[in-house]
Amino acid sequence: MKKKTPKKTPRKIPPQKKQRLSAVLAPDEPKPVRVENPQGRGLGLIICDHAGNRVPRALKDMGLEKATLKKHIAWDIGAEDISRHMSKALDMPAVLAVYSRLVADMNRAPDYHECMAEVSDRIKIPANAALSKEAKELRLKEVHRPYQNRIGKLVEGFVKKGRTPVLVAVHSFTPEMDGVRRPWHISLLWNKEEKIAKQVVRALRRNHPDLLVGENEPYSLLDERFAGSTICRHAEERNLPYVFVEFRQDLVDTREKAVRWADIFLQALQPVLEGQEIFRDRKIKPFKK
Ligand SMILES: [Zn+2]
Repeated sequence: MKKKTPKKTPRKIPPQKKQRLSAVLAPDEPKPVRVENPQGRGLGLIICDHAGNRVPRALKDMGLEKATLKKHIAWDIGAEDISRHMSKALDMPAVLAVYSRLVADMNRAPDYHECMAEVSDRIKIPANAALSKEAKELRLKEVHRPYQNRIGKLVEGFVKKGRTPVLVAVHSFTPEMDGVRRPWHISLLWNKEEKIAKQVVRALRRNHPDLLVGENEPYSLLDERFAGSTICRHAEERNLPYVFVEFRQDLVDTREKAVRWADIFLQALQPVLEGQEIFRDRKIKPFKK
């Protein structure tokens, strides 16, 4: 009997396949997070949300001039140098964000509008104008989430060993924003961890009476806009101790100056860490992904 050759059913072509956006990061581009001194045996982690000003090729310089990407709206000038120096001095791993905050701001909750700001310091960011839900999700998936998850894993490493890590968040602020001058040399920010912050503030003032030390300046972590940001998610919500420091950018805009100011801060911070009191009686809560 002759075998029937099965009839080929014509392949159905879906009606107008939804146009897919391609990846943000090309395979040859760096990962969104870099960890310096990953084997550091110190008391916690240095976190630098705004270390880098790199922009993935696909985002074409965010539609900005190259010179604009060197300004404070793209990153925290000096913060990476400070973080690296502190990482060595305290023997702590330093978590550095590689891509510009204009791509996805690590210091904001992923669903908050400022995570991909359309305007910063009166400069419009063309690549962030009217972003589709899909385009936003791609950036979160490829840039924001891997960074946050890496911090989560590093914290977990401590917790598994029965240790309570301290998170030290390093930022820098522009001396003028939206036309308003910001005079502080250095500033400590907090939400619930006021006690630790005040200890560092007092030490800074004691060591350097000439310094203008800010308290929750130029903005406050008590502000709603920071709900769900890196330190809130990994420290506040988990009940971990943290210190959030801001340096004025004109004081730290070369490596040499950054190291000098990192040392001023370290001199105030180290006794607070060594006192051990900040690590006591903390029930650590799980990280919410
Ligand atoms: Zn910052």
